[in-house]
Amino acid sequence: MRKTILTGDRPTGPLHLGHYVGSLKNRVELQHTHETFVLIADLQALTDHADHPDQVRRNILEVAFDYLAVGIDPNVSTIVVQSGVPELAELTMYYLNLVTLARLQRNPTVKDEMRQKGFDTEVPVGFFVYPVSQAADITAFKTDLVPVGEDQLPMIEQSVEIVRRFNRTYAPVLVEPTALVSTIARLPGTDGQSKMGKSLANAIFLSDSADVVAQKVMGMYTDPKHVRADDPGKVEGNPVFSYLAAFDPDAASVEDLKRRYRVGGLGDVTVKRHLIEVLESFLTPIRSRREELRRESVRRRPCSSTARLIFPSRCNRSPGFGDYRATRVMDQDDGAIVERVLAGDRDAFGILIDRHGEGATRFALRILRGRGDAEDVVQEAWLHAFLELTELRARDRFVAWLLGIVVNLAKSRLRARRETPVEDWAGGRAIREFVWMDAEPTPEARQEARELHDRIWGALGALPQEQQETVQLHYVDGLRVWEIAALVGVPAGTVKARLHRARGRLRRTLAAELGVPLDISGRRQEEQMIPVTVDDLIFRVPKEGEIRYLQVPDWRPPNVGRLRVVLLKEREGQRALPIWVGAVEGDAIALALAGIGTPRPMSLSLMYRVLGAADIAIERVVVTALRDNIFYATLTLKIGGTPHEIDARPSDAITLALYAGAPVFVTPEMLALPFVVTAPDALPALEEQNERARIEKGRPVEDPPMEWRSFRSLPDPRTAPR
Ligand code: ATP
Ligand code: MG
Repeated sequence: MRKTILTGDRPTGPLHLGHYVGSLKNRVELQHTHETFVLIADLQALTDHADHPDQVRRNILEVAFDYLAVGIDPNVSTIVVQSGVPELAELTMYYLNLVTLARLQRNPTVKDEMRQKGFDTEVPVGFFVYPVSQAADITAFKTDLVPVGEDQLPMIEQSVEIVRRFNRTYAPVLVEPTALVSTIARLPGTDGQSKMGKSLANAIFLSDSADVVAQKVMGMYTDPKHVRADDPGKVEGNPVFSYLAAFDPDAASVEDLKRRYRVGGLGDVTVKRHLIEVLESFLTPIRSRREELRRESVRRRPCSSTARLIFPSRCNRSPGFGDYRATRVMDQDDGAIVERVLAGDRDAFGILIDRHGEGATRFALRILRGRGDAEDVVQEAWLHAFLELTELRARDRFVAWLLGIVVNLAKSRLRARRETPVEDWAGGRAIREFVWMDAEPTPEARQEARELHDRIWGALGALPQEQQETVQLHYVDGLRVWEIAALVGVPAGTVKARLHRARGRLRRTLAAELGVPLDISGRRQEEQMIPVTVDDLIFRVPKEGEIRYLQVPDWRPPNVGRLRVVLLKEREGQRALPIWVGAVEGDAIALALAGIGTPRPMSLSLMYRVLGAADIAIERVVVTALRDNIFYATLTLKIGGTPHEIDARPSDAITLALYAGAPVFVTPEMLALPFVVTAPDALPALEEQNERARIEKGRPVEDPPMEWRSFRSLPDPRTAPR
């Protein structure tokens, strides 16, 4: 008989490299030879996330995406959501009587985790007893083998004890589980801590983008004594080498790198660059599979029961992008679609539902109170319409016909309720108001409508590709901003910015063509933000001679000017806003851009970790204003699902955004300031501004002569000679 495997993960966040080597890899390999269950332990996640049920709920899907992306095959493995099997909680209640308080207090993993989470005596009881609920999960499936990381061994031990006691006391029904620990039992964190953990802000997630992976690797902890490339370094306790050992398929080359690192002469940057390549070749296919799944899940709108009845193929398969586009049959009128349906293309009926479903419901709502009732009636009407479609003689009068069916069904519902006398529901009025639906439009009206339609499509067609697509998805297909963001794989801010630009262009084109006045008052503030990238960090350095310098950790070259310039470049253009910042702040930004970590974390990187540990996410940064020569910014944090906006210095906010990979925006006024430059000639433009200011203020010429230079052209602090 095939043996049974069960493991699981808490949906407290997406899965990371530690999960892969510790457990996922084993599961993928064993699923074909073992009866495999994979548990998404959402109840267990609540034991230390009781205040964040949203986070747990959201992450169920993230974890499932990770499973499928790494190769867990739903045709052979069963993915179980823990809360979906309430019997597991019930079994926990029975098991709780078989375990003593003293025994639970001895569990070393629980002790560790309580310390990490700062629980002390304030530990939630649910958390404290989670080893018992985990025993219920494992034994309920009669599990033989549990592929887990080393931290889980005490849990398996606890399960075995429960099984023995239960079997002895009641009847021998439970199976004793055995832990299957992988060759890499515990992957360390990027910060050098012994375990990479979702909740420890030291993880590289399977879903991280290439940029984020590169940034995290570049900021990884290494041997703190290995400052210069020539210094001999330690590979033990150096996570960079642990990751290479786990992910580089070429074991001989890893050994060689270790040897060279030990004797000295191999710089951290070189090893880290190699690690980035190794991780990229591992993560790229996982990432793209994950993206594909996410897209499908956004696409797959829930089907109503009627829809499922009428066109099962459309509901049961996930349409690809091509299919979706095909539903953009704006140019086909109802009559043509009715013909298609009658010719046997059942799926085309879905287009009619998409097109008129909402209108029909609104119509039904005028007769019936209550949206639920109205929706019911409309569902029924769709079914009638589909079944009796051959009865419709004037094919292009589909809507009028459909609404007729809705009226009849709604009336009989009211009659059945005997609530309102039929004649009293102002039905006459309601119907008269809709008479135009039935009326034949004049040829002129038809012509006018067609022209307007062509104009709008023409203006849409002239938009740049991404804007066109975004407008299509938002206004025609009715997707929401976050759905589009997930689908297209860009931040929500970018989607908003695209919509904003597209609307602006459409407004201008159509206003000009149709000769109507342009009224753009009442714009909302958030629609105005322009997404930017942190393009460069610019130093004032001597034109000639060596720039001595850049010593970790101080990184304060003696012969470099006091100020730095951060250059924020609009994502979809070349305008760039220079912001003058202090030396310390500027250097922090340069280090973050270069992905260089310092042995002792700088205050902002500490703050970033503290925020992470408190589960506070950095959502975005907006540079909002310039007043009296001082820039202002806001930082949006997400705490427990709720956004909070706080004021911050632009330099601090930008540094945090870089650590978090959060988007940065500026308000349009910022890009209209007189000192805005274009990115490719930023340096000469700043030079010119400098010179102008010098003359205006009557300052002497700099001695020695200085110039603006990108941090990228300066010596690397880690390899530069001191
Ligand atoms: P959390 O911080 O929320 O507890 P976690 O990263 O510890 O998250 P879990 O869901 O608790 O993840 O663990 C799921 C499985 O992955 C367990 O079997 C655990 O042993 C394994 N695992 C987690 N982290 C590592 C790691 N760094 N190395 C090896 N295995 C790991
Ligand atoms: Mg854990």
